[in-house]
Amino acid sequence: MTTSLRKLLIANRGEIAVRIIRAAQALGIPTVAACSEADADSLAARMADEVRIIGPARADRSYLNVEALLKAARDSGANAIHPGYGFLSENAAFAEAVTAAGLIFVGPEADTIRRMGDKAEARRTAAAAGVPVVPGSPGELDDLTAARACAKRIGYPLLIKASAGGGGRGIRMARNAAELAREFPIAQGEAQAAFGSGAVYLERFIRRARHIEVQILGDGQRAVHLFERECSLQRRRQKVFEEAPSPILLPEQRQALCASAVRLAERLHYRGAGTLEYLFDDESGEFFFIEMNTRIQVEHPVTEMITGIDLVQAMLRIAGGEPLGLQQADIHMRGAALEMRINAEDPERDFFPSPGTVTELHWPQGEGIRVESHLYAGYRVPPYYDSLLAKLVVHGDDRCEAIERAQAAVAATRLSGMATTLPLHQWLLEDARLQTARFDTGTLEIWLAERAATRAAQFEEA
Ligand code: ADP
Ligand code: ADP
Ligand code: MG
Repeated sequence: MTTSLRKLLIANRGEIAVRIIRAAQALGIPTVAACSEADADSLAARMADEVRIIGPARADRSYLNVEALLKAARDSGANAIHPGYGFLSENAAFAEAVTAAGLIFVGPEADTIRRMGDKAEARRTAAAAGVPVVPGSPGELDDLTAARACAKRIGYPLLIKASAGGGGRGIRMARNAAELAREFPIAQGEAQAAFGSGAVYLERFIRRARHIEVQILGDGQRAVHLFERECSLQRRRQKVFEEAPSPILLPEQRQALCASAVRLAERLHYRGAGTLEYLFDDESGEFFFIEMNTRIQVEHPVTEMITGIDLVQAMLRIAGGEPLGLQQADIHMRGAALEMRINAEDPERDFFPSPGTVTELHWPQGEGIRVESHLYAGYRVPPYYDSLLAKLVVHGDDRCEAIERAQAAVAATRLSGMATTLPLHQWLLEDARLQTARFDTGTLEIWLAERAATRAAQFEEA
């Protein structure tokens, strides 16, 4: 191949580190796993050609430690860094530091990250490209007086959102002016503490919205879309279960949505893999841009399953200087794919974190089944990081077949040593709302509350 990637350092951990190593191996690129001390015996460390310990368990001293990562790259002779998701993946200063060190950052240019990583700024960019955004403040709001004036125009209920927020955090609801007065300073303080910036903006709260996002790939000149994913099943604004394509979009709606994403990506001269997130109003057919993620996303495999395109390999090729070989007309979707996030959390105890040692592990096998995980039997899940253990991904000729395969795959999985969210997926896959695709971003929490109430009543009767 023609890539200029000689050796790749993976600045991440868990399942995504394993996923990136696998893509690099397929392209014949040697890999270096940058690991914290707590991850020295991780699957990524075992799979990579080399391992560099970058610091202690604490993320701020390892996976967020720019100097340590650059030193690991220098010492190992790596000339490129893949940031995965989370950690430094959407940190423009990191992308800049990587480039300044003479290395290749596997992702868009620092300026693009800065522009789209700031959610208030991204809204402005989208609006300027003619992509509808949720009615809200034109930009960041400095104080409560400005927020009050703006809220009057937007209407309640509304959301106060951190410009630098992500991962479902940094969003607070205000149902009226009194709540806005109370929540606004709290939101600013929390944003400052969590994201290092107190900047916040306002957005109208859209009831009964569906979260639909478009995957794009660009080479700086041209961009293509790989259709959409639906990620409406969420808990605390975090995705739990995702699928591709969205089961409710009509072909002309899909066409309009995906075209808007390509328009925005080309306007940005976007390079690499990116996702434009939208809220879709099922009843009116309207869609509104909410944010762009300038990195690979957790749920990217469902897109790979329906298109047959390896997104992580594409990222590496683009970063290595290859032009996007793909034409839009070459990209087709086939069937339906579902992803179940398996977290070390106990769904019977309000998703209480449950790290532990894997005592028994058996993954399902068969047609259309794919597992993305860093687990192995005997592995001790460290308590310091994200609770994602695995992603169970299934494909079927249609959504119905995918659901049947998912039910069988969940039932065949044996993962002992800790409580996980597997039972949640088992219940969900049996639920009529999931089976008929009648849900929105509020449905899962309502469903969980109903379920808890029913069980409490049963307990009282017994
Ligand atoms: P996805 O759509 O890929 O799930 P998320 O926004 O949920 O995207 O983020 C993916 C991962 O990155 C999660 O582990 C999340 O906790 C983390 N993450 C994303 N943005 C941030 C951020 N600004 N600060 C901390 N963690 C983040
Ligand atoms: P993050 O950066 O944390 O991923 P997003 O802006 O993407 O934050 O929002 C996360 C989730 O919060 C969305 O998927 C959706 O469920 C909900 N949400 C965000 N904005 C709105 C809105 N304006 N109205 C209703 N729900 C929203
Ligand atoms: Mg988001």
